[in-house]
Amino acid sequence: MSENCIFCKIANGEIPSQFVYESDNVVVFNDINPQAPVHMLVVPKVHVESLNELEDKNLMAELFKAVKKSTKKLNIKDYRTVINTGKEAGQEVFHLHIHVMAGRKFSWPAG
Ligand code: 5GP
Ligand code: ZN
Repeated sequence: MSENCIFCKIANGEIPSQFVYESDNVVVFNDINPQAPVHMLVVPKVHVESLNELEDKNLMAELFKAVKKSTKKLNIKDYRTVINTGKEAGQEVFHLHIHVMAGRKFSWPAG
């Protein structure tokens, strides 16, 4: 647990939150500022700053399993996943998370 990390606090229950899905090492909860009708964040319980620091292959698999489990739970088949890595790429919370967005049309390439 990293002090003053908002996602550590959410993932470890220090800030009470509703989870869309939870497994041993991953939680999924709704983004506070949704960019689509569905906007979830898939977050490891352990503090990993960004994708650059993610080494644990089992955790990688569990994160993607959580994407599939939570979208399946909501009956969503079309969705966009985004991982912002580093400031220039738009990362604002330095605790790894996968954005999962659905419920509207997305264009590509993204701005
Ligand atoms: P990033 O820009 O780091 O890829 O995405 C951070 C995301 O976390 C943003 O979409 C932002 O709305 C979301 N966020 C920031 N603080 C909180 C919070 O306290 N609770 C929740 N649920 N989402 C948050
Ligand atoms: Zn953290």
